[in-house]
Amino acid sequence: MATTFLPQGTAPVIFRHNFGCGQARSAPALGACVSIGVILDSDASDLGDEALAGIAEEAFRRRGLIYRDRHPEPTRPRSLRHRYFVHERGYGANWLLVGPSYGQVWWMSGTGVASALAAARIAAWFVRSPQAAGPAYERYMHDLLPSHSVLDWFVATRRQQLTQETVSDQADRLIRANARRLARLTMLGGNPVCSGFARLLHRLSARESFLHGYCKVKTLPLAEQSRTIFADVA
Ligand SMILES: Cc1cc2nc3c(=O)[nH]c(=O)nc-3n(C[C@H](O)[C@H](O)[C@H](O)COP(=O)(O)OP(=O)(O)OC[C@H]3O[C@@H](n4cnc5c(N)ncnc54)[C@H](O)[C@@H]3O)c2cc1C
Repeated sequence: MATTFLPQGTAPVIFRHNFGCGQARSAPALGACVSIGVILDSDASDLGDEALAGIAEEAFRRRGLIYRDRHPEPTRPRSLRHRYFVHERGYGANWLLVGPSYGQVWWMSGTGVASALAAARIAAWFVRSPQAAGPAYERYMHDLLPSHSVLDWFVATRRQQLTQETVSDQADRLIRANARRLARLTMLGGNPVCSGFARLLHRLSARESFLHGYCKVKTLPLAEQSRTIFADVA
């Protein structure tokens, strides 16, 4: 079996186990490290952090992603409690719930940092005009939510129920959700020309035909998945 390593800055590889899911990724910010994460309901398993890290390692090994070869020195796994939620309101006349304090969407969507930065982006505007900036910020946050249900579907759906058609349908939804997210973020920037294009993009991305089939769905033996995916993106 070929040893595969994650190229810098690539999308994460995700596996699903019977009690949760895991993620491996490499990013420039991590330097020479690779980040491995496992997420599960707090009452789903009695296993400790080390055992869960071992399950993740085996799951990735089965997919041809053997990170231990390049990274023989593990650090101590650390667990934390996490909740997904969204508050009814994100702002008032003199307050704003910044990013993840307003809502938390599946961590695989990368919305934690993005939503905190979106709040920073409108901070000065919000201080000047909370009744204009607040609703725009809420709309941005609201458009992050569709990503949550798509990622939930990928985690909750059993492998036997996955078909090219259903995966392709969910991939389309994710693309549309990301386009709406990009459009809303652009609107927060306040540039009238960019906002005009962003409004158009937002309208177009509401259509089911928008970038339909943009993500190609492949069916591969487990052991070839990582190698093939990274051969495509490297
Ligand atoms: C392991 C892990 C992986 C993650 N991966 C991703 C990812 O890939 N993509 C993504 O988008 N998000 C990810 N997130 C989530 C993301 O890190 C957070 O959503 C984001 O950092 C929130 O930014 P923030 O500025 O709101 O808060 P924080 O980054 O938490 O910053 C708050 C700061 O305030 C300081 N502080 C707290 N209390 C006080 C006080 N009383 N006085 C002074 N300072 C105080 C804290 O020390 C901290 O520095 C991840 C989180 C974790 C834990």
